[in-house]
Amino acid sequence: MTPLTCRRSMLGAAALGAFCAAASPAPAQRVGDRSRFLWVRNGAGEEVAGHYIRADGWIDWRLVQRMQHLFRDLRENTAGPMPVLLLDVLWLIQTGWRAERPLILLSGYRTPRTNASLEGAAFNSRHMEGQAADIALRDVPIGQVAEAATSFSRLYNFMGVGTYPGFVHVDIGPKRAWERGGMRRIAERPTPSP
Ligand SMILES: [Zn+2]
Repeated sequence: MTPLTCRRSMLGAAALGAFCAAASPAPAQRVGDRSRFLWVRNGAGEEVAGHYIRADGWIDWRLVQRMQHLFRDLRENTAGPMPVLLLDVLWLIQTGWRAERPLILLSGYRTPRTNASLEGAAFNSRHMEGQAADIALRDVPIGQVAEAATSFSRLYNFMGVGTYPGFVHVDIGPKRAWERGGMRRIAERPTPSP
């Protein structure tokens, strides 16, 4: 997905303008500044805020490592993979609100044991690959967060987006969408992985 030799983030910012025209403008950046800022708070109240992509377009792996720790399975205090592509997806979503508030991370990486203990979690959940995040934004209706995520899913033709009471599941798997209590398909994949 994002090997160590990958120097640049995978999603372009081309789509951001279209989305932000409907929401809020992205934070002002100097011409040529390719940095990407992300601000996340986990269930333990820990926060990481910083540029995981630097102004020159290179990944700041130390910041990615801090995010990896933040996204760990809190029950087992175990960190999993931290694909930069997932950070890109979260960055796209957060930037729609000008990164004025942290993304609330309700669930990031899960060990198989934690996943198995959660009611309603898919047996093959992408959380166990570090490829999914359950998120919310303070003072933003969940429907709006889901709408933003879904718009990027359509645009980039990948991502799972699940809408639940109180949070949105996003993952970097194939394109599909669902809501708790009933699938609202935007793709042909039969099995969601909440
Ligand atoms: Zn999830």
